[in-house]
Amino acid sequence: MGYKVNFAKVNEIFDALSKEYDIYAPKLFPNEGRYSETDIVRYDRVTKVEDIVFDKKSDYPAKEVLSPITETIFYFTEDEWRESKATSKKIMIFMRPCDVNAMEHQNKIYLQNGFEDFFYKRMYEKVKVVLMECKEGWDTCFCVSMNSNKTDNYSLAVRKEDNDLLVEVKDDAFKPYFEGVEANDFTPEFIEKNEVELEVPEIKNKTILNKLKQHPMWQEYNSRCISCGACTIACSTCTCFTTTDITYNENANVGERRRTSASCQVEGFSLMAGGHEFRTTTADRMRYKVLHKFHDYKVRFKDSHMCVGCGRCTSRCPEFISITATVKKMAKAIEEIENEVNANE
Ligand code: SF4
Ligand code: SF4
Repeated sequence: MGYKVNFAKVNEIFDALSKEYDIYAPKLFPNEGRYSETDIVRYDRVTKVEDIVFDKKSDYPAKEVLSPITETIFYFTEDEWRESKATSKKIMIFMRPCDVNAMEHQNKIYLQNGFEDFFYKRMYEKVKVVLMECKEGWDTCFCVSMNSNKTDNYSLAVRKEDNDLLVEVKDDAFKPYFEGVEANDFTPEFIEKNEVELEVPEIKNKTILNKLKQHPMWQEYNSRCISCGACTIACSTCTCFTTTDITYNENANVGERRRTSASCQVEGFSLMAGGHEFRTTTADRMRYKVLHKFHDYKVRFKDSHMCVGCGRCTSRCPEFISITATVKKMAKAIEEIENEVNANE
């Protein structure tokens, strides 16, 4: 069922929805970009359709709604503790197809990986997806190559046309909000070709994998990557976090435990008790990240690669390190290794 809804009516629907839902969407934050007088687009609560940025890719992913960069998981005193409270409302998120597919990867990590993450689950169970049609993409997107350009996992889908929204309502629970609105035969279209294309190389066996880990291609990143972690914080699919206890000034035995996004690209990420560290160089850390996104996750879940091709890591890297260029270098290294192995057989 589809509708054509003018912005004034959309805002009335938002008002009605807000009794039950917090609505999140990409929003513009003027002068909050990384350079002076630049803007940033990131997810935040919206109360009217005019707040939503339709014509730019958000700099940070929709995952921040479900797994915020920092969140309190419990509060403690000397002798007791209590969990933080989740929002009492349901959550509606405007997302592009790559972000919806990224949420499905997050589900695997948080919910289907041998345990269920309580804090993620209590948010995820409240979510309804509003798909933002994405037919053009942007210069760093390669979602088509990663099979993340399409999804049917949504309750509503929207296309912005001047001061109207075309809306497909898939979830019957939302039909009453559209009573009396002009019908329109709308279903979303999906991008079929990005400017950037990527063929992810297959790593055929452990011999190739082990040789790839030793390959000199990774050394380049010792001088290029500054281990800032900006790529992983902007990544739609990264899920690592660390925990920190924050104690209050008045009483050091009272405080809260927070979990905060962590980055495998930052020094000390793999530091263990006793001082042992698995990955001490930026080359090691880059190799770990790239293989995780383009090999290890797929081996673990026997499904798709973890990367959804949103290109945010490339856009956010201050050193202009492109994820697609890196994977293309890896493909060349694999070819070289395969030729060497074949020649020695
Ligand atoms: S690795 Fe880069 S392109 Fe892939 S999902 Fe993460 S941010 Fe997006
Ligand atoms: S954003 Fe760039 S420089 Fe920073 S850790 Fe990631 S790859 Fe390295």
